[in-house]
This record gives sequence, structure tokens and C-alpha cells, in this order.
Amino acid sequence: MSPGRGGAIALTFDDGPDVRWTPAVLDALRDADARATFFVMAERAVAHPQLIARARSEGHAVELHCVRHVRHAELTDEELEQDTATGLTMLGGLGVRPRLWRAPWGTVRDHSHVVASRHDLRLVHWTADTEDWAGAPADELVRRVWPELGPGTIVLAHDGLGPGATREDCAQTVAMIEPLVSAARARGLRCEPLGRDGEPLA
Ligand SMILES: [Zn+2]
Repeated sequence: MSPGRGGAIALTFDDGPDVRWTPAVLDALRDADARATFFVMAERAVAHPQLIARARSEGHAVELHCVRHVRHAELTDEELEQDTATGLTMLGGLGVRPRLWRAPWGTVRDHSHVVASRHDLRLVHWTADTEDWAGAPADELVRRVWPELGPGTIVLAHDGLGPGATREDCAQTVAMIEPLVSAARARGLRCEPLGRDGEPLA
């Protein structure tokens, strides 16, 4: 396929915003002419509203990750409802109305779907995992997801350090962006935010 006609992938970044690394990720996305989706931790978003505003102004999507970064299986129904409602309220204060929701650790249970439906959220997973949290170099991160790059691919990466991170910083995630976008482009794939249906915008 020729460039621009092969569809789109979605780059997604969890666990931010981070005052140091989110700006670097945004710079790299801008330089690569790519748009992404940020699944944010609500308290971090409230602490750094300028990063949320910048991401949105540059064409990226801001969606819900969580308040507490806890597996849904470890929350009662009420706690899960409260975490979600609180996160939405916090993001609403920043003018953000999430339509998509990525659960902490990517794990859900039956009640997750009840809560999602109640708040008109669509649960979104990923199809290609950089496992960047573990600290591998950028070229390795690209190699991991490269075989998966095709129309509709959802790539998971992190612009903040979550509770599972075993690295000290997000520098390799930043360094991964240009080669990853180039690899996608070589296959005729654009990098677009996720739409309301949870698929990369066509
Ligand atoms: Zn996370």
C-alpha cells in the first residue's frame, strides 16, 4: 500500500502525565508528526493541568486510566465505582470528558463492564506491548512491536512511572517514538488517536 492509504495505528501512553517525561514524549510526537492517546492517572493530571492542555492542543486524546493504580480484582464494586467516578470528576475539572478507559495493569472483571456502561466509557486494551516499563533500550522496544504493526494496532507504552515500573525514567520511550512512527509509516500506517469506538481514527 502507498503511504497514507494503509490505515492507522494508535500509540497509547499510560501512567502520566509526568512533569519531566510527558513534555519529552509530546516533543517527540510533534517532531514525528504523530498523534497519540494518553490514559492518565487523574491525580497526576490535576497536578499538571498544563500538560493535559498541551496534549489536547496538539491533537492528542486524553482518556481515563485510574485514580488508584490498583487491579479491579482488588477493589470492591463500590471502590471500583468510586475510583472511576472520582477520576472522571477530576478530569472533568480540566475540561476533559473521557470516552475510553484503560484499566490498571490491563485487567478487568465483570463489574468493570458495569461501571464502564454506567459512565459511557469503553474499555480499551492493547494489541502490541513495548513493555517499556522494564527498561529495555529503544531499539528493542521497537523490535518487540514491529511485527504487530498493521491497521488497527494499539501500542502500549508509558509516559510516567507506574507502580510496576522497574526503570528509573522514560527516556527510552521517548527515543522509541521516531523509529516506531517511521516503521509504521513505511507500512503506510498513520499514527492517530483512538476514537470513541476504541479504534485508531480512520
Ligand atoms: Zn498503568
